[in-house]
Amino acid sequence: MNLRSVLDLIFPTQCIQCKIHLDANNRVGAGVVCETCLESIPLGETLACGRCGARLPNAKRICHFDFPYVLGSATSYDNEIARKLIHTLKFDLVEGASKPLGNLLAAYAGRLPVDWETFEVVPIPLSKRRERGRGFNQSLIIAEEFARRMSLRISHRILERAKDGPPQSELKGRAARQENIRGCFRISESRKTIPRNVVLVDDVTTSGATFFEAASVLKSLKVRRIIALAVAKA
Ligand SMILES: [Zn+2]
Ligand SMILES: [Zn+2]
Repeated sequence: MNLRSVLDLIFPTQCIQCKIHLDANNRVGAGVVCETCLESIPLGETLACGRCGARLPNAKRICHFDFPYVLGSATSYDNEIARKLIHTLKFDLVEGASKPLGNLLAAYAGRLPVDWETFEVVPIPLSKRRERGRGFNQSLIIAEEFARRMSLRISHRILERAKDGPPQSELKGRAARQENIRGCFRISESRKTIPRNVVLVDDVTTSGATFFEAASVLKSLKVRRIIALAVAKA
């Protein structure tokens, strides 16, 4: 492998979508996508009830008041560029995809009528075993980028994995996913303070079962408001 192809691996020279040559002027962060493509991704405008999906234009609950979280998704998993970015993050270039994805989530959050200053960011934890296998936790990496852009504290030592099932993406159907994730999280003994409001961050949400488990555990700590944010909703 020559130096050029090594550099192409670390800093790809083409946008993953439009194949335009990437340079310092059009690259987002150290990203794998050009600014034009990233900005073409349609962003959501509201939060939604985590239970029934009702849109919440004022970010206030109108139904299912006892449900542990309200849901926000920056975009849809149907969007090809978002899907490519998430795929890139999971399977090869961490740095190149985390900046555009954190950017996307922050751009969406900035549109919502939420006083984010009162929130701490909590990424969905990956099991130690899977994190070792992959080398990183994609939710943590997106959450770090999001927290940096929003100037929020990140608390990655509150939640931890209690057990390890197959990845949610390998299971079909809401019931199977709920069963797989039940009891998966616990409060970490090394936690220091308890945040008042939490923004949970994950890359993709499908059935919402992962957010539900994580939010339910946080509610047991008397966290007041929980907003679960995913980059994409499948
Ligand atoms: Zn492009
Ligand atoms: Zn509802």
